[in-house]
This record gives sequence, C-alpha cells and structure tokens, in this order.
Amino acid sequence: MLYLDHAATTAAAPEVIEQMLPYLGELFANPSSAYEFGTDARAMVEKARSRIADSLHCRPEEIYFTSGGTEADNWAIVGAAESMKKKGNHIITSCIEHHAVLHTCEYLASRGYEITYLPVDEEGSVAPEALEQAIRPDTVLISIMYANNEIGTVQPIAKLARIAKRRGVLFHTDAVQAYVHQEIDVEKSGIDLLSASAHKFCGPKGIGFLYVRNGIAIEPLLHGGGQERKRRSGTENVAGIVGMGKAVSLGEMRRPEDREKVRAMRNFLIEEIPKEIPYCRINGSLRNRLDGNVNVSFRFVEGETLIFLLDMEAIYVSAGSACSSGDKAVSHVLKGIGLSEEWARGTVRITLGPENTMEEMVFLVKRLRQLVAQLREFSDEYRKR
Ligand SMILES: *Cc1c(COP(=O)(O)O)cnc(C)c1O
Repeated sequence: MLYLDHAATTAAAPEVIEQMLPYLGELFANPSSAYEFGTDARAMVEKARSRIADSLHCRPEEIYFTSGGTEADNWAIVGAAESMKKKGNHIITSCIEHHAVLHTCEYLASRGYEITYLPVDEEGSVAPEALEQAIRPDTVLISIMYANNEIGTVQPIAKLARIAKRRGVLFHTDAVQAYVHQEIDVEKSGIDLLSASAHKFCGPKGIGFLYVRNGIAIEPLLHGGGQERKRRSGTENVAGIVGMGKAVSLGEMRRPEDREKVRAMRNFLIEEIPKEIPYCRINGSLRNRLDGNVNVSFRFVEGETLIFLLDMEAIYVSAGSACSSGDKAVSHVLKGIGLSEEWARGTVRITLGPENTMEEMVFLVKRLRQLVAQLREFSDEYRKR
C-alpha cells in the first residue's frame, strides 16, 4: 500500500497507542470522580493539556478538549456569535474554508446572521486589505483557516489577526492542517480562538481541542455535567486526550527532521510531475504551502477515474478533500482560486507523511505518467486539442 492522503487522516503512532491503552482498560476511572482511583486519569488529562499549551505558547486553562476539529470549529463560531449578539451579527470568513466552518456559517446565516465570504487570489491567499475593508461596526468574528486542506496554502495569519485585533474583532483560525506540522505561537500571532484535531498529526480520531484566549466569552455548545471548567460538558475522552498529548510531544520532537524530509519529497513531485506529464498544473502557492501538499490538475483527464485506477494498485490519493468525495460538484476551493471546471475535474491531491520515501515518489511519478497517458487516449477533447 502507498498511503498518500495524510491530509485526510494519519495512523496513530505506536507510541501514542501504547500510552492510550491503559486508559481504555485498567485505568478506566472517570477523571472527574472524587476518589483516589480517578486521580491518575485527571493528572494525565492535565499533563496533556499543559503539553499542548506549551506547544502553542499559551496557558493550560486556555485549552478545551473537544471531539475533534469539526466540534472545535462549530463551537468557536456559534459560541462566539452567540456571546457577541449584542454587538452585532456579522461574521467574516473565506470562500475556501473547510466545510466545518463554511456549513456552520451557512447555518448561522439561516438564523439571521450575515456572512461575508472573502475571495482568495489564484494561489489561495486572503488579502489583508480585503479583510480590512470587510470589517463593519457589527462584525463579531473573523474565521480564516491557518492552512488549506486541499491546496495547502498557508495564510498570512499573523497579519490577518493583527487587523482583527486593531479593529476589536475576535479572530478564529482552523489550524487543523497546520498544528504540530508547523510551529504556531498564539501569543505572537494574536490568535483568539484556534481549532486542532489529533488524527491529522498521528494522534487518535475523535479528539481535538479549541484554544480560547483568556478573557474571551464564548457560549458553550454542549450542556451537561460542566466538565472543562463548565464550558464543554461530557466525560473526558481520557485515552484520546492522553494520545493527543503524546502525539504533540512526538510530533514536535520529530518536526525539524520530518519537515525537511516531507518538503524534499513534495518539491520533487512539484518539479517532476509537470516535467514528465504535459497539460498539467500545480495548484496553490509555491512559497506559502504545507510541507506535504501537492495538488495537481491534469487536463483531459477525470480526476475521479485516475484516483480509481490508482486505488486498484493500492495507491491512495484523493480528489479535493475526503469530505467531498462521492459528491460530484467541483471543489469550492478550486473554484475559489479561479480554476475552470475543466481543469478542476482533473485534480488529485497527494499529501505526504514522513514515512513516505523518495523511491515511492519516483514510482508515483512513473505511474501517473503512464495512467494519465492511458486515460487521455480515451478523451475526444485530447485528440481534438
Ligand atoms: C480534518 C479537518 C477538519 C475536521 O476535523 P475532524 O477532527 O475530522 O472533525 C476541519 N478543518 C480542517 C482544515 C481539516 O483538515
């Protein structure tokens, strides 16, 4: 198997699983219980919280565990909107956000909120000037993703957050694709709210967190037993939290080496694919890009068919995003960067991890060249070009 879909999910590291196991079995205590048996679970939950806080340069009490990135995004947006109702009902986001942000904004729009979707340039970047101009007296929240899950573009987050701060508007970022893979300092960047998810950095699925800057009021999404300092009810996912903490430690320790390795493979693909295969284009930014992301369009080819043929050889890549597979509509991200439908249809996303090798990249380029050529033989447009 050749797994090249790390933006969809990653395997939990063996060290992560090993740390989690006791908390699924013999150490099953509820961390909120009053007796001695629960104290180890509580201590481990708090240790993970501190570890995560260190990684973001924030305080442990600013980290709230959630069931993942989707919940963190929903909570940040709905929670901030509700707590700021008196100030206004206008939210600014971008047109290339993950659906966890876009569909939450659409939900709020159906409840009377006004949403501005900022455009992006052909590389997928939000212009700080466009953000500045979109802010109104009734703007209560700005939500711009740290890095895009389809095309890998990394936004000028510190610049955007600085504008938000100057204008007195809360700034949320969906950092699910960037957290751990890149160093993030919420203090230096001026981020107020940040979403992350463990399964994108070799932690388990179903666990993530929302960073909420001290002093910021957001309404809870989940009501109940009052866990997480009364802001996110529900018995803590102890094993998940412990696993996420371990994944942060491992990821940070390996980061310098992993980044260099993954970036070298990415650069190889970005150079070699267009050299070997005519009528193709690399989407996204060449400078501000996630280390492991290659998003490439082949003209005269159906991306879905190419993905299917690769799948038959156990090579796993994806169309736009995992969440949009199966739905025939052109990706909103590719539309956002102005890609024509013809190009967009021929798009595949290849996302790399540190366990991939350069030999695999060489093999991939070769197979892509052969399969694309094969598919083009069946294309009338290709013959008539
Ligand atoms: C994967 C992803 C999410 C969703 O996170 P889950 O933990 O799977 O709910 C949100 N935003 C981005 C950018 C993602 O890549």
